[in-house]
Amino acid sequence: MERYALFIDGDLREPSGGEWFTTENPYTGEPWAEIARGNAADVEQAVQAAQRAFTQGPWPELSASARGLLLHRLGDLIAEHAEELARIEVRDNGKLFSEMRAQLNYVPQWFRYYGGLADKLQGSVIPIDKKGYFNFTRDEPLGVVAIITPWNSPLMLLAWKLAPALAAGCTVVIKPSEFTSASTVALAKLVSEAGIPPGVVNVVTGFGNEVGSELVAHPLVRKVTFTGADSTGRRISEQAARDFKHVSLELGGKSPNIIFADANLDDAVNGAISGIFAATGQTCIAGSRLLVQDSIHDEIVERLLALAKTARMGDPMDPATQVGPITTPPQFEKVLSYIDIAKQEGATLVLGGGAAQRPECGKGWFVEPTVFTNVQNDMRIAQEEVFGPVLSIIRFKDEQEAVAIANDVRFGLGAGVWTQDMGRAFRMSERIQAGTVWINTYRAVSYMSPFGGYKDSGIGRENGIDAVNEYLQRKSVWINTGAETGNPFVIR
Ligand code: NAD
Repeated sequence: MERYALFIDGDLREPSGGEWFTTENPYTGEPWAEIARGNAADVEQAVQAAQRAFTQGPWPELSASARGLLLHRLGDLIAEHAEELARIEVRDNGKLFSEMRAQLNYVPQWFRYYGGLADKLQGSVIPIDKKGYFNFTRDEPLGVVAIITPWNSPLMLLAWKLAPALAAGCTVVIKPSEFTSASTVALAKLVSEAGIPPGVVNVVTGFGNEVGSELVAHPLVRKVTFTGADSTGRRISEQAARDFKHVSLELGGKSPNIIFADANLDDAVNGAISGIFAATGQTCIAGSRLLVQDSIHDEIVERLLALAKTARMGDPMDPATQVGPITTPPQFEKVLSYIDIAKQEGATLVLGGGAAQRPECGKGWFVEPTVFTNVQNDMRIAQEEVFGPVLSIIRFKDEQEAVAIANDVRFGLGAGVWTQDMGRAFRMSERIQAGTVWINTYRAVSYMSPFGGYKDSGIGRENGIDAVNEYLQRKSVWINTGAETGNPFVIR
């Protein structure tokens, strides 16, 4: 059994309560590592370390260029250790090795992009209307940031937060998911190697109600950036409001992937498959509602099933595997329960529909790629996030109905539109209530392009230049260059 300790003030530390918990390999179902069970005392130490690092040198004294250089170094180290980090993630999360290898070639870009941005953050001079004053703004880091991440893409989603937070000059305490903590601790070790001063990045592993909520409640934490379930996001938001912490939330989705009759159907079917079955459907942007125009409905279903049936399941380390296991036992149960709910609601099961019994799946937590037709948009299977390889196909007759169905859900994270009519593509991109709309593609994301939710899918944006503002606060500075004082009792 490997062991993953806490990372506080630049050092690996044993949990103060002396407790550890195991983490399982979703492919074998076996425990493979022990993770430190952090508690309130560990949170206190980590936050104090982060606060010291924020207020006392060397971090706050570094030039922005020097800070940027450290981010570049961290990016380079992640690239150098990509293979090792990928293996950890596969073992802990069940993600395909091929996916993780590609992801870890890409993750360093977040550190390079925001490293480059660090010394381009600047205030502005305001051409102020009041005579005799010079007024300018400074953007200053918020302080200690709590980064709370989910299990479905631990390193990538961490990079989305860590890189801009450090570029802004904040210090952080990271709380990874209790199901997939190992890769975050492995990455933290690279933070020291990169030369980032002790205390700037800390990791406290453990449970949401023991570590996560302590972090959110800590008075020295000035910002909470969270990715995870909407129910958790609501609790965090309420708790953070008590002392007016800044909050960014990246929550769930129930994204529509909409195929019009005029689409290139080969591309659309590929996009529908990747929309729901990539990463075993365990992505917030999963295209879990496939909206298909009436006239092509049967043909799309036929083509989609033919392709979905070819999905190879099995060992995530095997390059031939296309669909891996579900990451956690509770998630496995949740996906199966939603399949039952859809059946009870009267949706028609046309593919899969249960745990995979294939020999190549071993003792892993596998669910067959599952497709329902005859889904009505008010069914729970169309309204609630399943977070697994379960597709709901819904018919529509025209553009207006497609928009109405697409928007008739409380989430608004992503949406796909398949059409060769560019006028329609633009109209749809305007009318769909979602933070990202993909036309003739699905699930493209980049460090350069803003990502985030409309409606219940979240608050704030990650990626792109503006994301760094989530970690900054703006100060206005007034200098009297000769303004008349006037009557001190009267405000003018
Ligand atoms: P989760 O909300 O159960 O857990 C996320 C994190 O919050 C974990 O680290 C957990 O320990 C912590 N946590 C739990 N309770 C807490 C509390 N009371 N206070 C503070 N922290 C607490 O989510 P999950 O099951 O790990 O992840 C799946 C969810 O994440 C899905 O709903 C998915 O849509 C969402 N997600 C969203 C995005 C996005 O960018 N919008 C990306 C990936 C995943």
